[in-house]
Amino acid sequence: MKDILKKFNLTSPFYSVSTGQYHWKSTGETFKINSPVDGLLIGEINSATATGFNKVVQQAQTAFLTWRTLPAPKRGDIVRQFGNELRLHKQDLGTLVSYEMGKSLQEGLGEVQEMIDICDFAVGLSRQLYGLQMHSERPQHRMLEQWHPLGIVGIISAFNFPVAVWAWNAAIAWVCGNVCLWKPSEKTPFSALACQEIMKTVLKNNNLPEGISSMVIGGRDIGKQMAANPNIPLVSATGSTRMGKSVAETVGKRLGKTILELGGNNAIIVTENADLKHAIPAIVFGAVGTAGQRCTSTRRLIVHASKYDVLVKQLSSTYKQLSIGNPLNEKNHVGPLIDKDAVNQYTKAINTAIEQGGKVLYGNKILEGTPYSSGCYVLPTIIEANPKMAIVKHETFAPILYIMTYDTLEEAIAINNNVPQGLSSSVFTLNIRESEAFLSHQGSDCGIANVNIGTSGAEIGGAFGGEKETGGGRESGSDAWKAYMRRQTCTLNYGKAMPLAQGIKFDFN
Ligand code: NAD
Repeated sequence: MKDILKKFNLTSPFYSVSTGQYHWKSTGETFKINSPVDGLLIGEINSATATGFNKVVQQAQTAFLTWRTLPAPKRGDIVRQFGNELRLHKQDLGTLVSYEMGKSLQEGLGEVQEMIDICDFAVGLSRQLYGLQMHSERPQHRMLEQWHPLGIVGIISAFNFPVAVWAWNAAIAWVCGNVCLWKPSEKTPFSALACQEIMKTVLKNNNLPEGISSMVIGGRDIGKQMAANPNIPLVSATGSTRMGKSVAETVGKRLGKTILELGGNNAIIVTENADLKHAIPAIVFGAVGTAGQRCTSTRRLIVHASKYDVLVKQLSSTYKQLSIGNPLNEKNHVGPLIDKDAVNQYTKAINTAIEQGGKVLYGNKILEGTPYSSGCYVLPTIIEANPKMAIVKHETFAPILYIMTYDTLEEAIAINNNVPQGLSSSVFTLNIRESEAFLSHQGSDCGIANVNIGTSGAEIGGAFGGEKETGGGRESGSDAWKAYMRRQTCTLNYGKAMPLAQGIKFDFN
């Protein structure tokens, strides 16, 4: 790992930095970053101070004045170069993500691939930031709308996607003409710093100011400072619903804009017409992939009563075959949780479920000894539950799957929807009436609704996000770019008269 850190200029094991690329020493709080894989220290890092934070904001403001003058396709070209650098660094960055966060190497590499893909998308988008033209009600008038950049886009990211979610935001925000200020999770700062180093080289090669892509290291306090800063017109925040409510309140008070990507509590409905050969792998990947630490992880399984026994039998037998251990070893299916706090949350949720009437069908164990010395490895767990249990409505960021039964599809959809969160959902069925009912306006109330595909694993081409306590934001593909720009409606009069709208007469001598 030292070699990889060195390649990204993150050389010292006690790396001290307040603002990412500027490498200013800081007196802020120190975070010790230990890998959840083996518990070893990756490095130490200091939080930015309030003064350091304000300096970075000033540099970003200055950089914006240059960046916004570049034509959008030229900005796209810079993003293209960044994507090409990511291709060159994919193996190293993916490995660092995997080691720092604990997700499998395949998923670490997959994160970097998502970054590359969103760069490609953004390059194309840089020639397609279309506005509409409308017919005016007045003669010899023309109406059109155009889109302008906002300024600084503040990006707060969560530990579970240490780099990809930033890129979803940054690549789009850049081609739209904004500069980005990133506050990565204080649990995974080294992966973030590696991305900064890559972009720094691209900017340097093009004689562009570093402030186009800047970073502040810090925890909740720095995140709060970002939310409160009136020089940051848009804050895009990914993390827990608790965090999102705080950011929404603070940014709302100053009438700034937010994109909120918050907690999920995603369900799969398995109907009597489901093909279990497809459903089982999708359920298992959704529930135990990334050790249940995806916002789109499958947390609830809503199964038609006629399929319940066979499904439980097949699931339990698949869970028994899961290999748990070092995520850098491709043979393992499940790696560690991010830290011991997360292990405590796992235990607490299982105990609460039991108190509320749940029955553990598999799992409920913290793994000990070699190779589990970091203390962060747990056995994925299946709990027989009922939808009324309070814990079932709560997102626990761990591999715990609540399984429950239903009799009619209406009932299954009601269970799917009857939680505060609204991120991802899916139905397994070969019956078109069932799939269409699930996708109809009376069906799933989530931002993502899939048929014969699990809840996790989204493609960058679609707009990603969820409803209700998931925050309502949309990122990545489709027309999500519009949230990163301000819309301006323009009316031009090229005639010799001065007619008013709505036929109003305002004549005077
Ligand atoms: P978290 O809320 O603890 O932290 C996320 C980020 O917010 C961190 O950078 C943290 O420093 C910052 N933060 C915390 N409190 C803040 C505050 N009051 N003001 C400003 N910033 C603050 O979340 P986490 O544990 O890192 O990540 C797990 C959570 O993220 C889960 O709930 C998961 O569902 C969610 N998530 C959602 C999506 C999505 O797209 N919907 C994607 C990834 C993760």
